[in-house]
Amino acid sequence: MKILSVLLLLIGNLLTTKAQNDSIFIRKIYDEALENGQSYQNLKTLCKSIGHRISGSKQAEDAIRFSKHLLNNYALDMVYLQEVKVPKWIRGKKEFAQAENEKGEKLTLNILALGGSSATQGILITEILTVQNIDELKKLDPKDIKGKTVFFNESFDEKYFNTFDAYSHCYPLRGDGPNVAAKMGASAVLVRSLTNNTNNIVHTGVTTFDPEIKPIPCAAISTQHANDLIEWIKKGKIKLHLEMNCQTLPDVLSYNVIGEIRGVDNKIITMGAHLDTWDVGEGAHDNGAGVMHCIEAIRILKKLNYKPQHTIRCVLFMNEENGNMGGETYAKQSFEKNETHLMAIESDRGGFLPMGFDVMGTDFQLNTIKQFSSQLNSYDLFKIQKGFSDVDIMPLVKYYPEMMQLGLFINSQAYFDYHHSYADVFETVNKRELELGAAAMATIIYLMDKTLK
Ligand SMILES: [Zn+2]
Repeated sequence: MKILSVLLLLIGNLLTTKAQNDSIFIRKIYDEALENGQSYQNLKTLCKSIGHRISGSKQAEDAIRFSKHLLNNYALDMVYLQEVKVPKWIRGKKEFAQAENEKGEKLTLNILALGGSSATQGILITEILTVQNIDELKKLDPKDIKGKTVFFNESFDEKYFNTFDAYSHCYPLRGDGPNVAAKMGASAVLVRSLTNNTNNIVHTGVTTFDPEIKPIPCAAISTQHANDLIEWIKKGKIKLHLEMNCQTLPDVLSYNVIGEIRGVDNKIITMGAHLDTWDVGEGAHDNGAGVMHCIEAIRILKKLNYKPQHTIRCVLFMNEENGNMGGETYAKQSFEKNETHLMAIESDRGGFLPMGFDVMGTDFQLNTIKQFSSQLNSYDLFKIQKGFSDVDIMPLVKYYPEMMQLGLFINSQAYFDYHHSYADVFETVNKRELELGAAAMATIIYLMDKTLK
C-alpha cells in the first residue's frame, strides 16, 4: 500500500513538473512574439511591396520568393518549393454595370467579377430577375429565366453569432448560383456581396461551373447598390448594361512554399495558410495574416531552440481561392511519399484576436486539446470545440482519415468587412492581435508535438 502511495505521489509530481515546464515554455513563446515579433513587419512587406497575389500572377511569384526568403532567414532545417499546377483567371479591364429605368435614368453599380466568370463580349443588355436564393430560382420556369440576368439578393443572417456561419449559409449563392442560373438559361448573374455591412465595398470570390456548362458573366454587387437596385426594380422595368472582360487562361506552374524543423522521428505536424489572394486589396487578413502566423510560429520555435519530437512543417499553400490545387497537391504527394501525418492546423480567418481552436476530429481528439485548457486559458484561448479546420488542409483527410485537424479560432465579428475586397489592407490588421495569433499557433504546435505519438 505504501509503495502505491509513493508511486502515485511520484507520478503526481512528474505531471506537475511537466505542466510547469510547459507553462514556462509557453510564456517564452508569448514573450518572443510580443517583444521581438516579426510578423507585423513581414505582413507589411507582403501587403505593401507585393500586394494582392492571385494564383498565376507575377505578385504570386513574388510572394513565393519573399516567403521562401523569410523561412531561409530563420535557419530552419529545410526550406523548399513544391510544384503546383494552378488555374489562371484574369479580370481584364475593370468591369462596368449600369441600371437604366424606363425614363432613361441611369444608376452605375459597384460590381466585381467573380473568379471563374466569363466576359460579356461587349456590352450585354438584359432584364433583371431578382430571387433570394437558389431554391427560389429552381422553382421558376426556365423560359422566364432565359436571356436575363439573375440577381441573387439574400443577405447575411445577422442572427448567426459566428459570422462564418452566415457566410456558409450564403456561400452557395456565389459558389454555385451562377452555375445553376446558367443551366436554366440565364445570360448573366449578380450576387449580393457576402458581408454583414451595408456599404459600397464589393466582395468577390470564386464561382464554379460544371464541366459541361459554358461559364456566363457573373459579378458580386455591393450591398448598398443591391438595395438601391431593388428600389429601382420596385418602381418599374429595369435594363442592366453589363461589361466584363474576364478570361480563363491555361493552367500555369506555381508552388507551395515549405519550411521544416526536423523531428526525432519522421512523423509530421503541418501548420498552414494560403499565400494566394483575390486580385483586389492586399490580402492582409485573407490570408497574409495566416501566412505570418505560420512563419512566425516556426521562427519562434526555432529561436527558442525547441527540439521537436515530430517534424514541424510550415506550408504556405498556393491557390486556395480558386481551385485549392496547393492543398490537393500537398495531400496527394504526402500520401504518395508514404509520409505519416499526425496533425494539421490552419490559420485562415484573419489577423484578429485568437480565441481558441476548432477541432475537426473525434471526441478523443477534442479532449486531447481540452486537457490543456488551463494552459490555454491563461492566454484567452478558451474556445476549444468541434468545428471546421480549413480549406487548404482539408484534402489531407482523404488520405489520412484518422488525423486530427485544427483551425485557429479567431474573433470573426469584423472579418467580412474586409474579406475578398479592396478593404482588405495592412492598416486594418492590429499588430498585437496578429502577434497573439502567431503565439497561439506556436503554443498548440508545441503542446501537440509533446502529446501526439
Ligand atoms: Zn483565406
